[in-house]
Amino acid sequence: SQYVYRFGGGVSDGGKGDKNLLGGKGANLAEMASIGLPVPPGFTISTEFCQVYYDEGRAFPQGLRDEVAKGIAHIEGITGKTFGDAADPLLVSVRSGARASMPGMMDTVLNLGLNDETVKGLAETSGDARFAWDSYRRFIQMYSDVVLELDHGAFEEALEIAKEDRGYYLDTELTADDLQALVAEYKALVEKQWDKPFPQDVHDQLWGAVGAVFGSWQSERAKVYRRLNDIPAAWGTAVNVQAMVFGNMGDTSATGVAFTRDPAKGDRAYYGEFLINAQGEDVVAGIRTPQYLTVAAREAAGAKPASMEEAMPEVYGELAKVFDLLETHYRDMQDIEFTVQQGKLWMLQTRSGKRTAKAALKIAVDMAEEGLITREEAVSRVEPQALDQLLHPTLDPKAIRDVLTKGLPASPGAASGMAVFDSDTAEKRAAAGESVILIRTETSPEDIHGMHAAKGILTARGGMTSHAAVVARGMGRPCVSGAGSIAIDAKAGVMRVAGREIRAGHIVTIDGTTGEVMAGAVPTVQPELSGDFGTLMTWADGVRRLKVRANAETPLDAKVAREFGAEGIGLCRTEHMFFDAARITAVRQMILAEDEAGRRVALDRLLPEQRADFIQLFEVMAGLPVTIRLLDPPLHEFLPHEEAEFAEVAKAAGVDVDVLKRRAAELHEFNPMLGHRGCRLGVTYPEIYEMQARAIFEAAVEVAAKSGDAPIPEVMIPLVGTRRELELMKQVVDKAAQAVFADMGRTIEYLVGTMIELPRAALMAGEIAEIGEFFSFGTNDLTQTTLGVSRDDAARFLTTYVERGIYAKDPFVSLDVEGVGQLIELAAERGRASRPGIKLGICGEHGGDPASIAFCEATGLDYVSASPYRVPIARLAAAQAAL
Ligand code: PEP
Ligand code: MG
Repeated sequence: SQYVYRFGGGVSDGGKGDKNLLGGKGANLAEMASIGLPVPPGFTISTEFCQVYYDEGRAFPQGLRDEVAKGIAHIEGITGKTFGDAADPLLVSVRSGARASMPGMMDTVLNLGLNDETVKGLAETSGDARFAWDSYRRFIQMYSDVVLELDHGAFEEALEIAKEDRGYYLDTELTADDLQALVAEYKALVEKQWDKPFPQDVHDQLWGAVGAVFGSWQSERAKVYRRLNDIPAAWGTAVNVQAMVFGNMGDTSATGVAFTRDPAKGDRAYYGEFLINAQGEDVVAGIRTPQYLTVAAREAAGAKPASMEEAMPEVYGELAKVFDLLETHYRDMQDIEFTVQQGKLWMLQTRSGKRTAKAALKIAVDMAEEGLITREEAVSRVEPQALDQLLHPTLDPKAIRDVLTKGLPASPGAASGMAVFDSDTAEKRAAAGESVILIRTETSPEDIHGMHAAKGILTARGGMTSHAAVVARGMGRPCVSGAGSIAIDAKAGVMRVAGREIRAGHIVTIDGTTGEVMAGAVPTVQPELSGDFGTLMTWADGVRRLKVRANAETPLDAKVAREFGAEGIGLCRTEHMFFDAARITAVRQMILAEDEAGRRVALDRLLPEQRADFIQLFEVMAGLPVTIRLLDPPLHEFLPHEEAEFAEVAKAAGVDVDVLKRRAAELHEFNPMLGHRGCRLGVTYPEIYEMQARAIFEAAVEVAAKSGDAPIPEVMIPLVGTRRELELMKQVVDKAAQAVFADMGRTIEYLVGTMIELPRAALMAGEIAEIGEFFSFGTNDLTQTTLGVSRDDAARFLTTYVERGIYAKDPFVSLDVEGVGQLIELAAERGRASRPGIKLGICGEHGGDPASIAFCEATGLDYVSASPYRVPIARLAAAQAAL
């Protein structure tokens, strides 16, 4: 097969469609050459050869040598220079270039082709001896580091000493003679470390560099980068060999990097930096401060040094034309590298530019409105997850951060406030107008008021679907969970982390988007939901098939969800409605009651409250489906712990504290997640579900009578594993409905369905669908029970599991499509077989995760349900999945 692909001088063996073969850099160099842009001639050794290279034991077969010779001849023909020619030498760069960009991960060698003879020729033809010796000096240093793998510190030291001895401060003060002396020192260093003289044969130099670039594919840092970015090792890298152009040949030369639009804000303005008389690495090294490209940018920054537009108006004009051409050609914002050699512009690279979420949104909308791309393309250009950045306050990127530790990024956004270690204090402080960060080892339902009052939540334990994480996301509060390295002594009001002490009242900052925990206040910036956001979301809605609902239980959350575009409620967790401090006593009384009569007393107290909740919810969601899940409390979350709490419940229930304590001990479970929860509670105590069903139907009939816009309640039974369980529970619900309809003289439509959140339910979905009128996949529990991994304890080991590649991503964040996905597919299939057209949705946390949403689209589910702040993400992800 062919291994070498040429470009430049009117020849292009490849093009932008050949990224797999030529790598991103090689494909785009060929493309730029083919559309007539000034690209220094060169050739690309394909990624296919990378595998051959390893298969052959890191050797170069004769076939490749012949092709490379032709590639060199191609460059020589165009430049009129000869590789290794003492009089007028051709110099080349050798660079890596994989299919996916791996910035800084792999090796590059510049100025290759210099030796003791050719350096003189370069001095002669360039008329600049200093430039020639400086190039040779740089080449030896780079080659020794990258190819010979010698200790580069020794070379840097020699350079420093050379300057010191002469009383210089800058590299540029070194003269041609100084540099020639330094070259001699460098060569001596090579011989000392390598036992061989620095290679003088330019072909040996070339093969050494090519081998080093292929070798860098298997370097440790490249392997780590690939693992973190899901890049398969089999892709391999390409090698680009290209004629050198020099930005360091005097004041008419320069080098720079640019974006065709502002990558931070997205404005349609050229954006970038350049340096006169410099080589690429000088820009990166930050030795000199780069100058602006445009007058406008320079003036906006209040900077003095001339912009490129002023210093080199003609070349700038040419460059601006190239920017426009590249944008129209690639139909995307480009990130460009260029060099000006003695007044002549050369393009060294182009690729789609990285950008902030804000810029991505603006660029996509602008480009569609400019007619450069279609609206569908605009929809596909914005990373759904990136919308998170736009919906929550974020840390000011310019601010200094004193990072204490990192936990899980459980709920996005950033917040600063005083450390508070219990929820009552959090509520009090917040009521007094202070910003607080609630810090708990883990949260429980009793913390709900504190969480609500807090600006942010930090826990030492708990994973991405722990109580704290789920509740915080629902409320839109930033949360860092599972920060395992912090030790909290709530009684003493102190947290210890990284050898430091944070006391109650100290200011801390958390970033729920990154998981960082910081000491002190870090300024935040507020989100701006600009018109572009709305525009793109409307376009997305035009293409998506999946409906998007919200997981919400309070009217406030439901309102937020509607503002974000939710088309109903997919999960109302009724136990969350009981977390309220005012009600928890009644709930406890109900749970701890010895018999049905005792429970009914407590239930009677709860019924009007539940009904009032549902009325509000139905009003906000007028005319839309509202899925209400009957009680599913991990009981331990509700049991009292402290004396005062027992006393309160005892008083309300009119029983003895000791009786209550004995009852609590009876209810203690070893594994509450697999214990007396979900419909098991309804089976043992049907009066609880009966009360809830009553509250739902009374509320629905009342709202229907008032507004005429009848809500569509979908009553959902949790944790079902068998047909019979659902059958029994449906009877309870239907009976309550009939009773309410008879009492109130009005009938409304409703559905009774079930969650599919146990493997058995998925397997038995055919039978279960005979009773259930809809399924909602509870993928939090389905993941927990299928993997046998506790959702509350997973944080301790899951990061290691992900780091070691056992799971590609946290399976509580992104659905384990391979495993859990099979159960969902199977349940959907069996459910549809027994009840054609059965309504299918997902309401686990995965409902807001783009990759999981793509799976839901492929499986043909009807809707996804996500926490309110993730509704826009889900809308965009659903649109992309449909495209
Ligand atoms: C689930 O298990 O996926 C679910 C939505 O229910 P919960 O998180 O309340 O257990
Ligand atoms: Mg569940």
